[in-house]
Amino acid sequence: MQTLAVANWKMNGTIEESLKLVTELKNKIEDFSLVEIAVAPPFTALYSVQVVLQDTPFKLAAQNMHWESEGAYTGEISPAFLKDVGCAYVIIGHSERRRYFGETDETVNRKIQEAIASELIPIFCIGETAEERRSGKMEMVLERQIKKGLRELHMPDLKDLVIAYEPVWAIGTGETATTAQIEQAHQFVRDLLAKGYDAPTANGVRLLYGGSVTPENSKTIFQVKNVDGVLVGSASLSAEKFVKIVRSKE
Ligand code: PEP
Repeated sequence: MQTLAVANWKMNGTIEESLKLVTELKNKIEDFSLVEIAVAPPFTALYSVQVVLQDTPFKLAAQNMHWESEGAYTGEISPAFLKDVGCAYVIIGHSERRRYFGETDETVNRKIQEAIASELIPIFCIGETAEERRSGKMEMVLERQIKKGLRELHMPDLKDLVIAYEPVWAIGTGETATTAQIEQAHQFVRDLLAKGYDAPTANGVRLLYGGSVTPENSKTIFQVKNVDGVLVGSASLSAEKFVKIVRSKE
């Protein structure tokens, strides 16, 4: 299973800025043998970035989508549009979307189902808040998010699935989870998938860690058991930092 590094640019980057950043990445990264790389620019820059990345091994990712393919949903972007613009991946259920835009386990589930039906690979984000961790509910929260998020999904649906464990308290805070915390959460998710499906299916799901990944801590994070990649926010806005993160995978 190839390691995956995803650059989530969030709501940053005009078309010009996105082109500058992606061109730097393209010029600096030649070796994709150890790490598959996906970049997730804002919607408005997807097409321009795709033009730069076509015929390269870089993959294009979107940061969100609606679950319908078209219709009266003002302001929304459908999976069909993401396919049309060349996306391979779509981030679903990021904690910022759950927290600021009312996404629920149910809407996340609809999106995951539609992404798979549209042949987009979901990067399904889960993770507990600081309060949930303090009160000993981490595993309970992850279990609820996974069970509800994957409702009505069957073994073949999980073939390419990516799950990103992103403790909310570690996102954009500079506070990275410890290797022990990451290992525990990833093992828990792997076991839960094995229980709900079977071991080969569980082992085929790539589990990413996200939350203040930097060039300083990425090497250690890549070495944690059951970490199959990283989802990088802030540090991915610097080509230099993101390239260092990718190169720290040995
Ligand atoms: C994220 O946006 O998914 C993320 C992990 O952000 P950061 O790396 O800035 O914590």
